[in-house]
Amino acid sequence: MDQIFNFSAGPAVLPKEVLQQARDEMLDWHGSGMSVMEMSHRGKEFMSIAEKAESDFRELVGIPKNYKVLFLQGGASSQFSMVPMNLLRGKTKADYINTGQWSTKAIEEASRYCTINVAASSTNTNFTSVPTQDNWRLDSNAAYIHYTSNETIGGVEFHWIPEIDLNNTIPLVVDMSSDILSRPLDITRFGLIYAGAQKNLGPAGLTLVVVREDLLGKPLPGTPTLYDYQIHAQNDSMYNTPPTYAMYITGLVFAWLKNKGGLVTMEKINIAKANLLYGLLDNTDFYHCPVAKADRSRMNIPFTLRNPALDEEFLMQASNNGLIQLKGHRSVGGMRASMYNAMPIEGVAKLVAFMKEFACQHA
Ligand SMILES: *Cc1c(COP(=O)(O)O)cnc(C)c1O
Repeated sequence: MDQIFNFSAGPAVLPKEVLQQARDEMLDWHGSGMSVMEMSHRGKEFMSIAEKAESDFRELVGIPKNYKVLFLQGGASSQFSMVPMNLLRGKTKADYINTGQWSTKAIEEASRYCTINVAASSTNTNFTSVPTQDNWRLDSNAAYIHYTSNETIGGVEFHWIPEIDLNNTIPLVVDMSSDILSRPLDITRFGLIYAGAQKNLGPAGLTLVVVREDLLGKPLPGTPTLYDYQIHAQNDSMYNTPPTYAMYITGLVFAWLKNKGGLVTMEKINIAKANLLYGLLDNTDFYHCPVAKADRSRMNIPFTLRNPALDEEFLMQASNNGLIQLKGHRSVGGMRASMYNAMPIEGVAKLVAFMKEFACQHA
């Protein structure tokens, strides 16, 4: 088979080197005679895998000691309730910024536990931009402020970290599911970050949480044990069986990222990839990207064909050229090219060349 480039939004492409290593280690991990899938999570083999994954992640990002790294399950969606259950800490209100479908879901879920103040929203632009901070109406009694750094469906990304409270008394919480590790990250600006693994980290099944220690230990009464961050922190994410194979693959991805030169290098590559595709989208009438230029995502690029009657033909020809999973989210239609860390620049170059050619043919 010719090389395939997979533009899926998630579960998404993984580095080929990582998959090859997993293949080589599939039946016998490092002479243990076992597949990673068959190991006790408390055995020395898996403990070493888990420890390396955590230390590589800490090194990649530069995570200070007063932050816990948790390897959980339940998807990013579980965090929509886990965040209010743990971070309200006796308060009754939380601030949310609404920039699209994932923010909206987070708000809906959190409103089961507290009063939500939507401090800013981009509904006025139909979620094609990020509301600038001078218009945010934050509540001084909020327990925390939540936003979504990259809206995977709408293709809107924050290219700045909100400056909310330099004393860190009101923690900033972010859903980074689809742009975590795509650029350097100053964790000290946040109280908590979370991400489902299946976009930019690894396979589905693992949910990564990084949380400042002082926020732990005051869950809402009635919080289920498995929804209490403190329980997971005290047990090094081994209170119950963690998603071992997903942790292993994600650990290989962390090692791969270190090898590639880390997050500064990844950001350069991600900028170059995004420029290639946006460069084409902005220089043609054939295609259109609805997102405000300053807020365009480097990870998920939605675009439409001016003539939607050609959509099916576009997808079919793309697929014949080895460019797959480009169909837009069912709620917005059109196309979406997701270009996470594991998408090589050659894949984006091939997509852009194909799109130019398709536009010529159908002009
Ligand atoms: C995919 C996604 C989610 C939901 O993730 P699940 O793991 O399916 O729960 C939440 N937020 C963002 C930004 C996402 O991209």
